[in-house]
Amino acid sequence: MDIMYKSTRNNNEKVTASQAILKGLADDGGLYVPETLPALDVDLNDLKDMSYQEVAYVVMKQLLTDFTEEELKYCIGQAYDKKFDNPSIAPMKNANGAYFLELFHGSTIAFKDMALSILPYLLTTSAKKNNVNNEIVILTATSGDTGKAALAGFADVPGTKIIVFYPKSGVSPIQEKQMITQRGNNTYVVGIHGNFDDAQTGVKNMFNDKELADIMDKAGYQFSSANSINIGRLVPQIVYYVYAYSRLVKEGSIKAGDKINVVVPTGNFGNILASYYAKEMGLPINRFICASNENKVLFDFFETGCYDRNREFILTSSPSMDILISSNLERLIYKIAGNDAEANKAFMESLSAEGRYEITDKMKSGLSDFVGGYATEEDTRNIISKIYKNDNYIIDTHTAVAAYVYEQYVSRTKDSTVTVIASTASPYKFTRSVMNAIDSSYDSKTDFELVDELNRLSGVAVPQAIEDIRTAPVLHDTVVDADDMCKQVKNILGI
Ligand SMILES: *Cc1c(COP(=O)(O)O)cnc(C)c1O
Repeated sequence: MDIMYKSTRNNNEKVTASQAILKGLADDGGLYVPETLPALDVDLNDLKDMSYQEVAYVVMKQLLTDFTEEELKYCIGQAYDKKFDNPSIAPMKNANGAYFLELFHGSTIAFKDMALSILPYLLTTSAKKNNVNNEIVILTATSGDTGKAALAGFADVPGTKIIVFYPKSGVSPIQEKQMITQRGNNTYVVGIHGNFDDAQTGVKNMFNDKELADIMDKAGYQFSSANSINIGRLVPQIVYYVYAYSRLVKEGSIKAGDKINVVVPTGNFGNILASYYAKEMGLPINRFICASNENKVLFDFFETGCYDRNREFILTSSPSMDILISSNLERLIYKIAGNDAEANKAFMESLSAEGRYEITDKMKSGLSDFVGGYATEEDTRNIISKIYKNDNYIIDTHTAVAAYVYEQYVSRTKDSTVTVIASTASPYKFTRSVMNAIDSSYDSKTDFELVDELNRLSGVAVPQAIEDIRTAPVLHDTVVDADDMCKQVKNILGI
């Protein structure tokens, strides 16, 4: 069966998977969603004998149906290779009563690598399949981790350029250093005066600008997106939930068919949505526990059914979750509205005009598997320190938000279902916050002294990504106003 993709804001236009990947966002501003979510066609028990790459193939072939077996296996093989410093790609650690699924063993040590190491291959394969001759310009807004992972994925990939916008004062020092030292003749990194939502809005506006698209086309360019609104990001993320499940079966923690819970530290709602898609495809999942930091717009939404971004934007120690507009939630809203594009469009228009919308009671019943929770900065520090002391395991600030929310969930519900926590970044990426949580006297040390101290405490080798930036020269230093993002893109492309 061929799976076609539709926009969440228009039920009439259908495109293939490769076309959806190429375009990123639909012309009407909607997100592409598969018309149906096909069931996995393997026995859950058989998955345990497969490698990560093999699991990736059985999951992705169900959704990217216009890719040939050869094309898909090529993309998977190129993505999940020695770039990952662990042969199982996504290993699990048992600590504090849960399984931490470590999604940070790729080249930029955050979970974005799980999807962004394959996206360039999916995208260039899609271009070939659709006879696209334009150069593809990847335009990305980042709250820190996407930017570096996209830059690393696309650097020097022929037929592509990549332009990344990030909030100048809204990312960690290591995140910024990782981006502004990026090599590659086709890479551009631009800071903006503003927050992540400003960057994301600027990027969305450029995607929706028909006049700009015409100018680009005449000059031999077209935009695509590496943000998690691209379905080519979402599909590879379904894989690791299926993989994690299969490893739990393999080690005997569950039997094939048993349900698990997942806890996901959430920002743009891409990662947790992938777990929801995994369930729709047949993976036995009981609860989706959506963990927020102090920007708890999603927690409030799950409590009340009202999504309201009219609030103060708080800079936290988990910057990749400092988001008030969770773009991928639109895909869930569309689904629980009964795949009703008109209804969804009205909600999204209300969100952009008034900054809020309220779903119906009927739609709320579609959220019954979701549980929201949040952690304050203090909760986040405390749980890092606690898990270090009890389990000698050091987690990053984003993962800590999830770990705290999970503890609260268990003490409230006494739910003893086996639980997987998505561990989304290496502690080395947020070293200062992590080390301060363990002992506040560390604050006087330099970033790299802290890296060495973290290495001493955890016994985990310093990742190559960190070694690389110790001495790397700064290659990008442009900063612009949010209003000038489009002008900057035109400058870069010479149009
Ligand atoms: C991006 C990111 C998140 C949030 O993921 P979403 O898919 O946007 O919800 C959480 N933690 C880290 C470390 C990230 O980089």
